[in-house]
Amino acid sequence: MMAGKVAIVTGASKGIGAATARELAAQGAAVMLVARNVEACEEIAAEIRTNGGQASAVGCDVSDFAQVTSAVVKTVGAFGRLDILVNNAGVIEPIASVRDADPQDWADSISINLAGAYFMVKAALAAFGDNGVIVNVSSGAAHAPREGWSAYCAGKAGMAMLTRSIALEIPSDKVRVYGYAPGTVDTEMQAVIRASGVNPISQMKREDHWPVETPATVITWLCREEASDLAGQELNINDENLRRRAGLPK
Ligand code: NAP
Repeated sequence: MMAGKVAIVTGASKGIGAATARELAAQGAAVMLVARNVEACEEIAAEIRTNGGQASAVGCDVSDFAQVTSAVVKTVGAFGRLDILVNNAGVIEPIASVRDADPQDWADSISINLAGAYFMVKAALAAFGDNGVIVNVSSGAAHAPREGWSAYCAGKAGMAMLTRSIALEIPSDKVRVYGYAPGTVDTEMQAVIRASGVNPISQMKREDHWPVETPATVITWLCREEASDLAGQELNINDENLRRRAGLPK
């Protein structure tokens, strides 16, 4: 279904990114897995290749523009082109009140969650051919504050505006951009949130969260041509129509 397409997935060493890389590859795309933990990305890429897919890995801290441009150059070198960017890398820390958060930790969060997303977009736009797709992995936190998450909420709110800015400047027949808020998903990020105990999300049980395969299915569907009428939008797992169209069970 996605044969001939080349995708970069950031934050692919675990969680939603790893599952999305597996799903894109299962649908025929060649996938470059990007994260700081390159060994973990290599392992997942090897597993994808064993299952008959195409995948490779590159270590990259998305908050460093030189590393980002190098990762994109390596992707085009490995697979010959770039069609899809899944901007998924993200951190929840620092979990601390506005009053108490460490200023450098706060700035580091914005560097990864917001500047890092922009760096990837800038490098991908330079590498896309006639068409490209960008999925920015957003959050409910982009639209509603949560106690202790001021950096995360501000970064994700900024990312939602980045999505709208791309949609405003670049016609959707050239680049289709989507924001996608996946709901709460059973990953290490949620384990960190649970351990913090700071707000109602931290009180949720593991079994209340979506499995990683759910966002992977929706994100991969958004990368396909048939989602193009939704381009430019900030979408959410609560959207029943989206869930149905992406093929999730009721
Ligand atoms: P996760 O399991 O903690 O995975 C986060 C990923 O981001 C890892 O692969 C990590 O890899 C990577 N990453 C972090 N900092 C990075 C950096 N500086 N450069 C490159 N990669 C970096 O979290 P997740 O739950 O899968 O989250 C994935 C995305 O979904 C995030 O953007 C998150 O905000 C969003 N989200 C998650 C939930 C949820 O409930 N889980 C809800 C809404 C939105 P390395 O550490 O190896 O770099």
